[in-house]
Parts: sequence; structure tokens; C-alpha cells
Amino acid sequence: MKTVIYNGKIILQDQIIENHNLYYENGKIVAISEKKYDCDNSIDARGNYVSPGFIDIHTHGAGGADFLDNSVEAYITAATVHARYGATAIVPTLTSIDIDGMKGTIDVFKKVRDTEANCAQMLGLHAEGPYFAQSQKGAQEPRFIHDFDEDEYNEILKIGGDCLLRWSAAPELPGFEEFADAVTKYDILPCIGHSDAEFECVEKAKNAGFTHVTHLYSGTSTVHRRNAFRYAGIVEAAYYFDDMTVEIIADGIHLPPSLLKLIYKLKGPDKIALITDSMRGAGMPEGESVLGNLNNGLPVIIEDGVAKLMDRSAFAGSVATCDRLVRNMVNLADVPLADAVTMASLTPAKILNIDNKGALKPGYDADIIIFDENIDVKNTIVNGRVIF
Ligand SMILES: [Zn+2]
Repeated sequence: MKTVIYNGKIILQDQIIENHNLYYENGKIVAISEKKYDCDNSIDARGNYVSPGFIDIHTHGAGGADFLDNSVEAYITAATVHARYGATAIVPTLTSIDIDGMKGTIDVFKKVRDTEANCAQMLGLHAEGPYFAQSQKGAQEPRFIHDFDEDEYNEILKIGGDCLLRWSAAPELPGFEEFADAVTKYDILPCIGHSDAEFECVEKAKNAGFTHVTHLYSGTSTVHRRNAFRYAGIVEAAYYFDDMTVEIIADGIHLPPSLLKLIYKLKGPDKIALITDSMRGAGMPEGESVLGNLNNGLPVIIEDGVAKLMDRSAFAGSVATCDRLVRNMVNLADVPLADAVTMASLTPAKILNIDNKGALKPGYDADIIIFDENIDVKNTIVNGRVIF
């Protein structure tokens, strides 16, 4: 079954082309050409943009569901809402929880990862914690945060090593090298997050495999003083080392336009992944909600387009969807559309070593979205299947 998408502006990595057709067959893109070939199906893009599907490598949920609710329905609900807003693939993310909670959600993930439901593909899990610095806990549950525990992570790796794609941790804690060794054996990317590491520690961690920074500027150290002397932190190291990648919550609230512009200028589209870091309130009306598991999570309030702790002292996750991230980079940070799309598709795929996703190229998966000038998503196609 060959399908053509015609009458669209096709977003390639460095340019946007018109008067071309995009062809896909058996879930793979086969050609982008001015020529017309016979097809079984055709999709009229009606002058809109034809873009690679977005890949959100850090989301906790959406549509009222959190991945820590530990049910198949929760995973499908969240992945369906994300698809509605342009994500063709996501990396379900688990906040710090005890080992039983982690094992439970890994079991659920195993049941849903090959789902045929009309939702974003779930590529693998991101364990966000529990080996974090209490001083950078953010909205993470403090009672679950602790130092590296070799027995614990080895047990999780044994049952879920093939389910995890990334694991965020604080490398200033003792034992970070052993941790990096253990997870990289399973092709899991160790990421620096919720950490007070200083520059020299980040360099050592990078050499051990921690090449990616989890939500830069949220739970990451920066220049600080100790006994009158200044020390650089994760932020400076992320800028300094060209071989480090970062992800940013581009909901327009966690980071002001000035920082979005600075990060883009210093790191460029090939080193930045746009993430939602969305909690269950994404795609839902504002009001009271819960961060983490529905039964024992943290009560939060969603207002002004973001989740906040009840006392409004800190943000407690975003309610963004991927379309909003791309729209913000274009409107708030003056980033060209093709670069904004790269940061939401190809770069996150490359960071996690996911082949054949994130670009409109022959041989790549037919993960395609169609959106208008306002980045309002009209269609979502996952592996060649129109799901929205
Ligand atoms: Zn998160």
C-alpha cells in the first residue's frame, strides 16, 4: 500500500520545500519527489506543513494520566493525547519512586510497548531518579531520593534493562562511575539531573558516559560561591563541552525567552532536545491535580499554563504538549521553523541512539505530522498509519 502526501510544505532538516510529494510504503518513507507515482492512498496536506513527527523524550503523562498510575490505560491515554498534539513517539518518564513502584511500572510498560492503539509509539522508559541531590529535588518526592544503591539498580536493570532508554542521576553522589558502567552496558544513557555537581565533576561524569543534561536550568547547578571563591556548575559545563547535549522545557514558562535564545545560540539545534516534562494535566483543563501516582502523589495546582506546588513556591511540571514547544521556539526565541522541528524530532532521536526516526528521509519510519502556520496539528501518522 503506497501512500502519497501532496500539496504540502515539506520540512527537511535545513530547509522547507514546496511542490514535492512525500511517498511512504509499509511504514517507511520511500521518496520525496516532484514526480508523480501511482499510489493506493493519497493525503491532501492542503498547503500545510508536512513535518517529521515530534519525539518527546521526557514526559510523565497527559490527558489526566501519569505513567506512575501503573495501568495500561494510563499509558495509552497519555500517549494518545500526546499524539493528538504531534508526538509520534514518546519516552514515558518515572519520577523518583521506591523499587516496587519502579518494577510495577516496568511490568506495565512491557504490556504496552507494542500496542496497536492509536497513540504515540512508546520507545522506552526514562527513570528520573531516585539517585538525586536533595538540594535540587524540585518537585521530586524527598522520601524516595537517596544515594546510588548498587543492589537496587542492578535489580531494576535485571528486570527492565531492555525497557529503559535513559536514567537521570546526580553524578556528585559516590559511585557514579559504577552506575554509569552498569547502565551503559544495557545501552541506557546516563543523564545528569537534579544535581549540584560542579564543573570538574561534570567533566568526569561526561567521560563516564553522562553526556546529556536533563532539563537544563531546572534542578541543575550553576555558578556559586563557597568561601569567597566561585565555582562553575552544570550549566556552564553544558555550554563548554561541545559533546554534551541538553534538553529544555520550552513551555514558555519554565524558561524565559532570553534563556531560550541563549541556549539556542550557544548549543544549536543539533544539541538541544525540546521536552514537555508534562505531568498528567497536559491536554486537560486547569485546576487541582496530582503529580505522580494518583493515590499517593503530590497535590498540585494547574494555573497560568503550568503546574505549581500548592503553596505556589515552585513549578511542579509542565502541562505543555509538543506543538507548544515548537511554537514557543519560533515565536519567543525567533528560531527558524526547520530548526525548531529538528530540536523536537531528529535531535532527541539521536540523543537516545534511535535510528531511522526524526526526519523525513527515504528509509526513515513514516512518522509524519501535518500542521498549519500556527503549529496546530491536523494529522498524525505513526509508522504509516493515520491515527489522528
Ligand atoms: Zn521530569
